[in-house]
Amino acid sequence: MIAAKAYAAPKAHANLEPFKFDRREVGPKDVLIEIAYCGVCHSDIHQVRDEWGHGIFPMVPGHEIVGRITKVGAEVTKFKVGDLAGVGCFVDSCRHCPNCLAGEEQYCDVGMIGTYNGRDKEGNPTYGGYSNQIVVDEQYTLRISEKLPLAGVAPLLCAGITTYSPIMHWKIGKGHKVAVLGLGGLGHMAVKLAVSKGADVTVLSTSPNKKADAEKLGAHHFVVTSDEEQVKSAAGSFDFIINTISAQHEYNFYLQMLKVNGTMILLGVPPESPTLAAFPLIGRRRSIAGSLIGGIAETQEMLDYCAEHNIVSDVEVIPIDYIDTAYDRMIKGDVRYRFVIDMATI
Ligand code: NAP
Ligand code: ZN
Ligand code: ZN
Repeated sequence: MIAAKAYAAPKAHANLEPFKFDRREVGPKDVLIEIAYCGVCHSDIHQVRDEWGHGIFPMVPGHEIVGRITKVGAEVTKFKVGDLAGVGCFVDSCRHCPNCLAGEEQYCDVGMIGTYNGRDKEGNPTYGGYSNQIVVDEQYTLRISEKLPLAGVAPLLCAGITTYSPIMHWKIGKGHKVAVLGLGGLGHMAVKLAVSKGADVTVLSTSPNKKADAEKLGAHHFVVTSDEEQVKSAAGSFDFIINTISAQHEYNFYLQMLKVNGTMILLGVPPESPTLAAFPLIGRRRSIAGSLIGGIAETQEMLDYCAEHNIVSDVEVIPIDYIDTAYDRMIKGDVRYRFVIDMATI
């Protein structure tokens, strides 16, 4: 067994605290990664606070993991010791259902095995990236370019792929008017990626003080959602709304901003079920859809795309003992635009 150090929530809603546990031995197809940085996703907060239910505690969150390989199993071909590597939201899946075979392991019929708050094939809880090292099958490990600043790469493993995948699926790009709803970790990556694909991008935000940032990120327009006049002028204007809001909100209010045939793509997972009225949908043949992270092949494609186009996340690097404060700040929308834990501080 490999002794690991981590931060864990001992029970639901609790603050995080130091935690020691054992990782499995490096198997023939496994790699051992010394974690350098781990991004802080709003899903970590939802799960530590057990807002989605069925949480497994103690919980070591973290699924935006980058680091260097320190050991490889005898049959590993993709990596060697010293390589950079990344791990995203899942570390295994059934590998033979139609979705796994199609490279969409996130939609595995049996269920992907989450990097944390999941159970491995032996039934043991999985522990995530707020930790000094992790053992992962090479097939579920990503290659990372040496070219980009590593702390800024970490959030690509969730926030990056979660926004890249729908942009590719719906072929969002030139000629489209796209709104990004909520300018946080996912939102700021959605802006960068949609702009890079040539779309006309508007940020819809509750935070007037994020306007200058939105422009720096490349957004073409900014709408404060509490400003009636601005909202009125946005009515019926978007082909897509990429909805990244993490808290309860009124879907119907935003649906009105879609054109005929427009689509709202849900990425955010508020704990409460929304109310949905028929008229905003049928009145303009609008759709509402959802999208979950992305498969391993697409995550690799996204990482290579970001390396080629110099795209990273805007990060605030924090020590691990700042994590509870970081959570509180994220709840208030006070993050520019992703907290990333420097794992040397563990
Ligand atoms: P985040 O960094 O905290 O950003 C969320 C943003 O939503 C905030 O910055 C804020 O933007 C806006 N917001 C927050 N509370 C709001 C409220 N009450 N009303 C309106 N807007 C509000 O979170 P994140 O890490 O980007 O994650 C966002 C959501 O996506 C979470 O629910 C997370 O679990 C989910 N998620 C889903 C997937 C997936 O595969 N679908 C993957 C990762 C995360 P403004 O200040 O601009 O208003
Ligand atoms: Zn995430
Ligand atoms: Zn499967």
